[in-house]
Amino acid sequence: MIEIKNLRKSFGELEVLKGVDLTVQQGEVISIIGASGSGKSTLLYCINGLEDIQSGQILVDGVDVHSKSTDMNKLRQKIGMVFQQYNAFPHLTTLENVALAPKIVLGKSKPESEEIAKAQLEHVGLGDKFDVYPSRMSGGQQQRLAIARALAMEPRYMLFDEVTSALDPELVGEVLDTMRLLSDAGMTMLVVTHEIGFARDVSDRVAYVHEGLIEEIGPPSQVIANPKSAHAKRFLSNVT
Ligand code: ATP
Ligand code: MG
Repeated sequence: MIEIKNLRKSFGELEVLKGVDLTVQQGEVISIIGASGSGKSTLLYCINGLEDIQSGQILVDGVDVHSKSTDMNKLRQKIGMVFQQYNAFPHLTTLENVALAPKIVLGKSKPESEEIAKAQLEHVGLGDKFDVYPSRMSGGQQQRLAIARALAMEPRYMLFDEVTSALDPELVGEVLDTMRLLSDAGMTMLVVTHEIGFARDVSDRVAYVHEGLIEEIGPPSQVIANPKSAHAKRFLSNVT
């Protein structure tokens, strides 16, 4: 479970998160939607400790992310993250990219790491690409590689930050399908997305963020189909 309590985050004078409360239950998929600059990415970065915070608290399985005594390496092994930009190591093959973290971070043997990598690459539909270098793959394949790489750490949570935004439209579907499979398999996911169709069809809950606060949260049938907030109504009429 991830518990976010009255989270405030500033960059200098600019307060970006203004008291966010959110509890993510095990197995839940929450889509986070909202205008550019509303604080969606910052929220994800605070959850895995990539950003410090001003006040409030984030607990991941009861562990305080921003406490000095927290073992960040251990915590981050639980939380896989995939970004908008492709970030595979260009000098490593697909298989080597995915096998790296199990080997180095989890201390698995080379054969074990490769077995994990192969299984994860099969999962994301890249079973025929083990020896290919990332630069020879499409954007959609590279994002699926990034998902496989995160999964190779056997995380309990996955955070996605607009992973399809940089893709050509015809490649978006294959990445969303991969995320859908992951959700079907029971993964707990926080998904920042502009893909309203995905948010509607896959999420248990949708959180609409406005100027650093979750202004509305609930099932897609409420937040997407029938939002109460005037800001959410306007936002949705512009993106759908
Ligand atoms: P988008 O949909 O465009 O990705 P977002 O909702 O993810 O937007 P954030 O990236 O979280 O928005 O940014 C929220 C605010 O914080 C913005 O005003 C942004 O300029 C500011 N901001 C983000 N990161 C930093 C930083 N490292 N230093 C200073 N300001 C930052
Ligand atoms: Mg962002």
